[in-house]
Amino acid sequence: MTDTMDDLDGFIWIDGALKPWREVKLHVLTHALHYGSAVFEGERIYEGRVFRLAAHSARLRRSARLLGYEVPWTRQQIDEATRAVVKANNLQAGYVRPIAWRGSEVLGVSAKGTTVHLAIAPWARGQRLSVEASASGIRLTMAQYRRPGPESAPGGAKAAGLYIIAGLEKDRALDAGFDDALMLDWKGRIAESTGANIFLVIDGAIVTPTPDNFLDGITRRAVMGLARRRGWTVEERSVWPDDLKRASEVFLCGTAAEIAPVNSIDAHRFQVGPVGQALMADFPALVREADCEGFGESGYLEAEA
Ligand code: PMP
Repeated sequence: MTDTMDDLDGFIWIDGALKPWREVKLHVLTHALHYGSAVFEGERIYEGRVFRLAAHSARLRRSARLLGYEVPWTRQQIDEATRAVVKANNLQAGYVRPIAWRGSEVLGVSAKGTTVHLAIAPWARGQRLSVEASASGIRLTMAQYRRPGPESAPGGAKAAGLYIIAGLEKDRALDAGFDDALMLDWKGRIAESTGANIFLVIDGAIVTPTPDNFLDGITRRAVMGLARRRGWTVEERSVWPDDLKRASEVFLCGTAAEIAPVNSIDAHRFQVGPVGQALMADFPALVREADCEGFGESGYLEAEA
């Protein structure tokens, strides 16, 4: 693909209207560009519909609140706008990036006096890990930076500024020949990869770190729901690097990654095993199910009520 992101066909929804893709531009003195104050979402379109759209729209609004501002559109209006822009772009499969940010009225550390904007851009490019990588498992390395603790940053927000560390670690991992980096939290417990949550099978139990200051992924919730349907229990608890010695299977999950088995974390090796394979087999049917509002598998909707 030779197109760059600013040079695609189609439409972007911005501040209430659909505009041709190439005409959507921002001024360089926009607060969010300088101070990381944008919040965003990553969503997937399956058969023309956005998976768990309401949960994503609610999380966007919640992220903004954690950064001290309100998105000036209701959750339902964001859902509607998303459906409209996906339809206008005639997309059956793809990715959606809603983003809210603080504008260009004043420039300084304080964002007071700036207006809040919202854009929603969907495109056809899949962000899927390669098929070979998902069959044999991806290779992770331990990150050097840790996720900040609750006394340092509002880690539950999907905020642009919080991706600085993830971006550095992802690049470092790619430069060293890995697929991604595994990040610890401020206490040294396993947190997540740079853009996905993690599950492990330890002594036969399915375990996932408690998301106490990192993103409680919508896919993570969906995977827990799939496990429950199979009658499996998922333990949310502190997971320590030492636990990796006893893990037989590890997999990541997120909107872009879907469910991706992990082959190794540095010297620790894992099998692409039965738990991950069963959940991967269940996932395509799940993403095609109609979302029911208040389905209870996304804390974001409950938080919005
Ligand atoms: N953690 C991080 C840091 C992420 O960027 C993502 C992707 N949004 C996730 C976890 C997974 O979240 P979700 O399942 O909602 O995409």
